[in-house]
Amino acid sequence: MFIENFKVESPNVKYTENEIQSVYNYETTELVHENKNGTYQWVVKPKTVKYEFKTDTHVPKLGVMLVGWGGNNGSTLTGGVIANKEGISWATKDKVQQANYFGSLTQASTIRIGSYNGEEIYAPFKSLLPMVNPNDIVFGGWDISDMNLADAMARAKVFDMDLQKQLRPYMESMVPLPGIYDPDFIAANQGERANNVIKGTKKEQVQQVIKDIKEFKEKNKVDKVVVLWTANTERYSNVIVGLNDTVESLMASLEKNESEISPSTLYAIACVLENVPFINGSPQNTFVPGLIDLAIQRNCLIGGDDFKSGQTKMKSVLVDFLVGAGIKPTSIVSYNHLGNNDGMNLSAPQTFRSKEISKSNVVDDMVSSNGILYEPGEHPDHVVVIKYVPYVGDSKRAMDEYTSEIFMGGKNTIVLHNTCEDSLLAAPIILDLVLLAELSTRIQFKADGEGKFHSFHPVATILSYLTKAPLVSSTRHTGGERTVQAACNAGEHTKGQHWLGS
Ligand code: NAD
Repeated sequence: MFIENFKVESPNVKYTENEIQSVYNYETTELVHENKNGTYQWVVKPKTVKYEFKTDTHVPKLGVMLVGWGGNNGSTLTGGVIANKEGISWATKDKVQQANYFGSLTQASTIRIGSYNGEEIYAPFKSLLPMVNPNDIVFGGWDISDMNLADAMARAKVFDMDLQKQLRPYMESMVPLPGIYDPDFIAANQGERANNVIKGTKKEQVQQVIKDIKEFKEKNKVDKVVVLWTANTERYSNVIVGLNDTVESLMASLEKNESEISPSTLYAIACVLENVPFINGSPQNTFVPGLIDLAIQRNCLIGGDDFKSGQTKMKSVLVDFLVGAGIKPTSIVSYNHLGNNDGMNLSAPQTFRSKEISKSNVVDDMVSSNGILYEPGEHPDHVVVIKYVPYVGDSKRAMDEYTSEIFMGGKNTIVLHNTCEDSLLAAPIILDLVLLAELSTRIQFKADGEGKFHSFHPVATILSYLTKAPLVSSTRHTGGERTVQAACNAGEHTKGQHWLGS
């Protein structure tokens, strides 16, 4: 059974005028490697950690600024939210379609909250805590192409014509602000689009982005802004000692107009300096160590990397299922072809490499979790191929072959064909990322023994569920995640070396 909303009555939960206060006892274990009479053994000790949470119940008026607003994802999300807000329906060849938020965890999924007369009761995810209603978000942002959002929607070829016609009047007046363009970081084939760019040095570009955020906030009378990168995938930046490995070196490099600071890192610097959460939806290493440290220093939320929308989402679920079932994936081969502008940008080797790295990391955690199936250091063969095929447009095709070893040397092969409708999968994920980022900034907590309430760690691990290459803080490092520590181990701090090689 489904219910719309509920209230909690418990000694552990208190509703005040401005807050929900709750106490949560987290049942976990502590592992100790103990020397017992000369031999070491692992000892598991159950423990309970008491957490106290405070959630500010005032839902702000939220502004969302997208970097790459005029792209397929940006225009699809903007149009989709307008269609929901205005209650637009449109004729397709099958039926009259109503606007919805399918694919959004916060808007379209439910949570089991208990049982009533023996029946399971589910409530919307969004009823758990007060959250921004996506229909109330004010959208804005930057794009290196000056096309208005109505024309950008037509260029994207994602929505049905009848819907596009109805959305056009709302979107014609929406024009992206000039963006930071550096042809060294994205494919040369994007050059033609770049007619709307911020001039000046890198420091001046950062200052302009800060000014844009302030003006957007003021003009739209929003209480909070979240910025999200859904612009083209960039190549990896070289991480070099003295250039971007610390806050000081990064800021000094900004002063010196160093060429190796990517546009995405420049937007991120601006946001952190303005204390505006910044989320990276693409695979590149926007969050160089100096930027991560800056976010930690200023306690500004950052999250990423790379939306987990189609093929990779399936891969996370399937490999987790197989390894969890005691089956040993030994070869995972993924082909993609797509025909949208993202695909055209990824046809350059440097940008493709960013995507390849982020897509390859997803199985690492699962593999390292099972020492019965895999020897230390052993990995399945994992290959990712992406080809640009203009005709299929935004309708990305992903073909995967999973070969696994089963009982007594047997082999099992699973083949999947996934037609991804790329931007229709990504848009609701973008929505979840900004809504959860905003919610995270309203939650304070403290664990047993901690004197004061504090916010979540600025590196927002909670958002990682929605990303392919989760950025996590170094205290939580496991397998395939990218951390400051991992970056150091991978040689990011060695002068002149590229992160993970070329
Ligand atoms: P797109 O090419 O349609 O849109 C990107 C937009 O960014 C373009 O309008 C471009 O002009 C603009 N742009 C490029 N550099 C910019 C800059 N420095 N500043 C401001 N604007 C800039 O691509 P898309 O299909 O919307 O995808 C966007 C990003 O999301 C890509 O990097 C893609 O890899 C990533 N991504 C998408 C999906 C998905 O769609 N399912 C999943 C994971 C990641």
